[in-house]
Amino acid sequence: NELISMENVSLVYDKGAGAVPAIDNINVNIYPGEFVCVMGPSGCGKSTLLNILAGFIPPTGGTVKLNQTEIKGIDWHRGVVFQQPPLYEWYSVRKNIAFGPMMKKVPKSKIREEVSTYLEKVGLTEFADKKVYELSGGMKQRAAIASALINNPEILLMDEPFGALDALTREQMQGLIRKIWWSSGKTIFFITHDVDEALLLATRILVMSKHPGKIIADLPVHFTKDIV
Ligand code: ADP
Ligand code: ADP
Repeated sequence: NELISMENVSLVYDKGAGAVPAIDNINVNIYPGEFVCVMGPSGCGKSTLLNILAGFIPPTGGTVKLNQTEIKGIDWHRGVVFQQPPLYEWYSVRKNIAFGPMMKKVPKSKIREEVSTYLEKVGLTEFADKKVYELSGGMKQRAAIASALINNPEILLMDEPFGALDALTREQMQGLIRKIWWSSGKTIFFITHDVDEALLLATRILVMSKHPGKIIADLPVHFTKDIV
């Protein structure tokens, strides 16, 4: 069964006459365990599509379902990782990662345990008590990934997460996300404009076109290289 189904999904930002939809009638299913990379020229609607999947903006047409249930607004079933992680710079890494379970009123002892688990998974155990502003870009991205994963989302939505990192750090982060994907079986929806990155990570590549934003190619990808 599909994890996500998008039926005739459209989004028009400006509803005036002659407005071009940012997303035009997209029909696509995403299946559990897929690593979907989304590519396409700047302005083709990649981020808009991710924002719709996250529940940040409702589509102006069509329906988006997660496990057969229509998505309405934000909830913990979808974790989001942006290029610039929205972390609390003056709080510790530990506290930032604990934020989600704290909001959900998870018992303190359980939060402590889960935070340790996720710090370990992203390789931040030694940095747990550093303040976020003390971290490098790659380390911040690790913290953002842990903050998303600790809520146990069914899908991880990533918007050019490694786009601002230097080449070496990007390579390390690609290895990390591959390892997390492989060991957790999570479904990942990952925007990138780096073809090499998509070919390295994806099990499937969606290519979008601009004006209007449509999916013009849907390609299976076979791994060529073991990067874990
Ligand atoms: P991408 O992520 O592929 O670069 P976006 O989803 O950011 O594309 O943008 C798709 C189109 O929608 C672009 O033409 C962009 O200018 C427009 N757009 C994006 N966000 C808004 C907004 N908040 N209001 C109006 N237009 C927007
Ligand atoms: P703010 O700090 O702006 O007041 P909140 O404390 O309500 O915002 O939420 C902070 C972040 O936590 C939000 O950006 C949102 O993504 C996430 N969040 C809040 N409530 C929920 C929820 N019920 N399900 C999923 N995520 C949530």
